[in-house]
Amino acid sequence: MRTSFAIALGSNMRHPHHGAPAQLLRAALAALDAGPVQVLRASPILTSRPIGPSQRLYANGAALIETDLGPEALLDHLKQLERHFGRKTGGQPWRARPLDLDILLWSDGAFVSSRLCIPHKELAKRAFVLAPLAQIAPQWRHPILNLCIAHLKARLDRKAPGA
Ligand code: ADP
Ligand code: MG
Repeated sequence: MRTSFAIALGSNMRHPHHGAPAQLLRAALAALDAGPVQVLRASPILTSRPIGPSQRLYANGAALIETDLGPEALLDHLKQLERHFGRKTGGQPWRARPLDLDILLWSDGAFVSSRLCIPHKELAKRAFVLAPLAQIAPQWRHPILNLCIAHLKARLDRKAPGA
């Protein structure tokens, strides 16, 4: 059965071929819109430069997709895309990666298994996820917290201004 999902796209590392994180996310969005997955809406890609000595650029975005894949098959598909855009050599510092694809929400509601939890556990705490998601799905209601994305974003903005 065809259902829809909200996906988070993140990158915090340059890629030897695709370049800066924002460029890589554009390529990843194009790759996501293929095969079993159709991208219905994509947010603008937001970039930020962390304060402090780190030179690392961060890019984040969100997409609404439609697919016949169930949650676990979609996770496998996303992991495959992550590997496709992954760095081929070792030595990656912890948490540094060209591409992170997370499942945020599902039109059928909640899903929990040993390797997947939907809604994504950190969704309501992460401004860099809520900001792009609020641009494409402000009215989507979080099935556990029972608040819509625009509301969750406003709540987090109040708690952590500028974060
Ligand atoms: P993170 O996304 O938390 O920075 P990873 O991308 O390495 O870290 O994901 C670690 C594991 O989290 C994945 O292998 C997957 O099994 C699990 N996971 C649980 N819930 C989700 C979700 N909603 N979306 C993506 N992965 C998830
Ligand atoms: Mg992930």
